Amino acid sequence: MTDLNDIKKSQKVVIMGSGPAGLTSALYTARANLEPVVFEGMEAGGQLTLTTDVENFPGFPNGILGPELMDAMRKQAERFGAKCVQRSITSVDFSAKPFKIRVDETEIETDTFIIASGASAKMLGIESEKLLLGHGVSTCATCDGFFFKDKELIVVGGGDSAVEEGIFLTKFASKVNIVHRRDELRASKILQERAFKNPKINFIWDSEVEEVLGDMESGVKGVMLKNSKTGDVSEKEAQGVFIAIGHNPNTELFKGKLEMDGPGYLITKNGSTETSVPGVFAAGDVQDTKYRQAITAAGSGCMAAMDAEKYLEDQGE
Ligand code: NAP
Repeated sequence: MTDLNDIKKSQKVVIMGSGPAGLTSALYTARANLEPVVFEGMEAGGQLTLTTDVENFPGFPNGILGPELMDAMRKQAERFGAKCVQRSITSVDFSAKPFKIRVDETEIETDTFIIASGASAKMLGIESEKLLLGHGVSTCATCDGFFFKDKELIVVGGGDSAVEEGIFLTKFASKVNIVHRRDELRASKILQERAFKNPKINFIWDSEVEEVLGDMESGVKGVMLKNSKTGDVSEKEAQGVFIAIGHNPNTELFKGKLEMDGPGYLITKNGSTETSVPGVFAAGDVQDTKYRQAITAAGSGCMAAMDAEKYLEDQGE
């Protein structure tokens, strides 16, 4: 870990974010002797630090804990000279080169900037869901579905993610209850039809999860549901809860400065990591509305590093 005061005020590569995308771009740019600085942000290590076992990251036949994997990635990048600073970038100025990055009162100039600030899963905002995250509450069916063989599950949401994750989870679970706050799904018709036909899927309409029941030692036991029309409260037994109510890309700092789509994901060009400002690159979930996996984020972090290196070469740096 490096202190902000020990960072040179003029850099070749500054990376925002310390999930798989940020740390892989740090590893690659460090090995290219570009001495990158990583601003780790509020959630150092990214979304994987909110999960327990990761079994789908290649290279770990017995799985690895999310926080351990991120710790190893950070150490690997640091071994080649990447500097990781546990602070958040507070503003950026791309109007002139070199770019200007601020961390509160400290200003740093950089020739390239890699954005790997990720996306955060939207949460219901209840205390028990926070407490049981990684202990039966999950925001990623692809990552955690496997742990729920023959269990009864709750999926919260009514969009494509909830229905798709619900269908996916029937591969493992004995039963999947999709809890939606209205009586009509937002998901596409084709996914709806598939879900309605699936004998393992049950819909619980007009309902909101008020509380996740359980504890960190024994995991999730069920949920308290409130009917949004009648106000009636009931308990539903389940051993896992998947929250699938959407994601928010962490792009607040870039509004009006970089091209983004409607929900705020950064737009990258021509299958590369280039954004609308030359010299600014985006990798990982902050620009990915489709795959959102640790391994795809790491892959695009590698691409951003190579794109930044090439950009610097072309600028004669
Ligand atoms: P989404 O379309 O925004 O749907 C979010 C769902 O969660 C909605 O049904 C919403 O209810 C519900 N919700 C939101 N906040 C809630 C809260 N606080 N409590 C309870 N329920 C809440 O998000 P998404 O499903 O993640 O999809 C995001 C985008 O990715 C969409 O454009 C989607 O088409 C796309 N996507 C596509 C696929 C695919 O094509 N295979 C798969 C996944 C995602 P309301 O309906 O009442 O608003």
